[in-house]
Amino acid sequence: MRTDVAVIGGGIMGSALAYWLTHFDAGASVTVIERDPSYASASSALSAASIRQQFSTAVNVRISQMSIELLRNAATWLAVDGRAPDIGLTERGYLYLVGAERQAALREAHALQTAAGAEVELLSPEELRARYPWLSVEGIAEGSIGAGAEGWFDGYSLLDAFVRKAKSQGARYLKGEVAAIDVDNHRVTSLTLADGTRHSFGWVVNAAGPWARQIAQFAGIELPVFARRRTVFVIACRAALPGFPLLIDRSGFWIRPDGAHFIGAAAPLAGAADPDEPPLEPELERFESEFWPALAARVPAFEAARLERAWAGYYDYNSFDQNGILGLHPSLDNLVFMNGFSGHGMQQAPVVARGIAELILTGRYVALDLGDLGIGRLLDDRPHKELNVIG
Ligand SMILES: Cc1cc2nc3c(=O)[nH]c(=O)nc-3n(C[C@H](O)[C@H](O)[C@H](O)COP(=O)(O)OP(=O)(O)OC[C@H]3O[C@@H](n4cnc5c(N)ncnc54)[C@H](O)[C@@H]3O)c2cc1C
Repeated sequence: MRTDVAVIGGGIMGSALAYWLTHFDAGASVTVIERDPSYASASSALSAASIRQQFSTAVNVRISQMSIELLRNAATWLAVDGRAPDIGLTERGYLYLVGAERQAALREAHALQTAAGAEVELLSPEELRARYPWLSVEGIAEGSIGAGAEGWFDGYSLLDAFVRKAKSQGARYLKGEVAAIDVDNHRVTSLTLADGTRHSFGWVVNAAGPWARQIAQFAGIELPVFARRRTVFVIACRAALPGFPLLIDRSGFWIRPDGAHFIGAAAPLAGAADPDEPPLEPELERFESEFWPALAARVPAFEAARLERAWAGYYDYNSFDQNGILGLHPSLDNLVFMNGFSGHGMQQAPVVARGIAELILTGRYVALDLGDLGIGRLLDDRPHKELNVIG
C-alpha cells in the first residue's frame, strides 16, 4: 500500500522529514501542512544554527557526528536540477569554559564524547591563555574545545534547501493550520484545518516545533514542550579576534562570529520567569544589564562593542529532560513525534528526520539507533537528560 503521511509543520524538522521520506520512497505521498510559509516566527528561521559535538549524552554526540557529514556534503545531496545550495558551513570549535563547580561535569562529558569518537580537547587556564590571548581566564578552572566537526551554518538556507529538494521529489506543501485531530480506535483518523476542511492520512507527524504541545493536546496527549523566548544580540566589535570560536561562558552567555559581526545570547537568569510563548520582542534591556558586562569581563576587547540589533525566537523547550522526543506514542498507532529539541534541533534535523523516515517506512531505526530519545520515557518517568543545553 502507498505510504501516506501528513507532516504538521514545515520547519527544518518537517521539511527534512519530507525530504527523507520522498528520497527513500519515491512513491510515498507526503503532505506538509504549514500555516505560515514565510516562517516568520518558526524557530528554524530565527535560529543561531550552530553545531557541536560536545553533548553530555552519547546519542546526541552520535547524531552530531552523522549530521556534520551531511552538512559538509549538503551541496551535493540537496542540489535540485544541478543547482547546489550554499549553506555556508564554517567549521570552528565550541569553546566551553567552566569554573571549579562544573569541572567534574566537563571531564565526565569529555570522557563520554571521546568514547563516542568525538575529538575534543581539554585546556587548562594556562593553555587557554596561550591559545586565546584575548581571553580573561578569571574564575575558569578548565575549558574544552572541539578539534573539528563543530561550527555554524546558514539555517535558513538549509531549510530552503530541504523545502526545494522535498518538493522536487514530489512532497506537497499545503498552506493551512491544523485546528483539531480526530482519534478513533487508537488511530488518528482525520485532521481538521482552521478553514474547516478535513483530511485523512495513513500517518501523521507532529513537527510543530514550539507549538508541538498544542498538536499533542488535540490528540489527547500531554507533551512537555514549551515556546521559550530567546533573544539574540548582533554586536559590532572593531578589535581583530582571529579564529574566535563559539564561546560558552561559565556565566551562561554564548557568543560567536557571524560574518562581519558577532552574535550572542545570555541564558535566562536562575529563577527568572521563562513563560510560554511571550511576544517575540527581543529583550533589549538584558544587553546592558547582563550580557555586555559578562562578555566584557571575559573578552575585554568587547568593552568597546556596540549593539547593532537583536531578534528573538522560540526554543522548542522540553521541560522534562531538554532532549528530543521521538517516535510513536504507545496510545496511538499512527501519530509520530519529533519535538522538544531545546536549542539543538537545527543541527539534529538532518539525522533525526532520517531516523523518523526509516521508522515510518520500515518500522525501525536503521542508520542510527535513536531509541534513547523515545517518547515512552515520558510515560515511564525515565529522563534522558542533556546537561549541555545552551541557555
Ligand atoms: C534563538 C535561537 C537559537 C537557536 N540556536 C540553535 C543552534 O545554534 N543550533 C541548533 O541546533 N538549534 C538551535 N536552535 C533550535 C532550533 O532552531 C530548533 O530546535 C529547530 O529550528 C526546530 O525546528 P522545527 O521544525 O521543529 O520547528 P519550527 O522551525 O518552529 O517549525 C514548526 C512549524 O510548525 C508550524 N506550525 C505550528 N503549529 C501548526 C499548526 N497547528 N498547523 C500548521 N502548522 C503549524 C509553524 O508555523 C512552524 O513553521 C535555536 C533556536 C532559537 C530560537
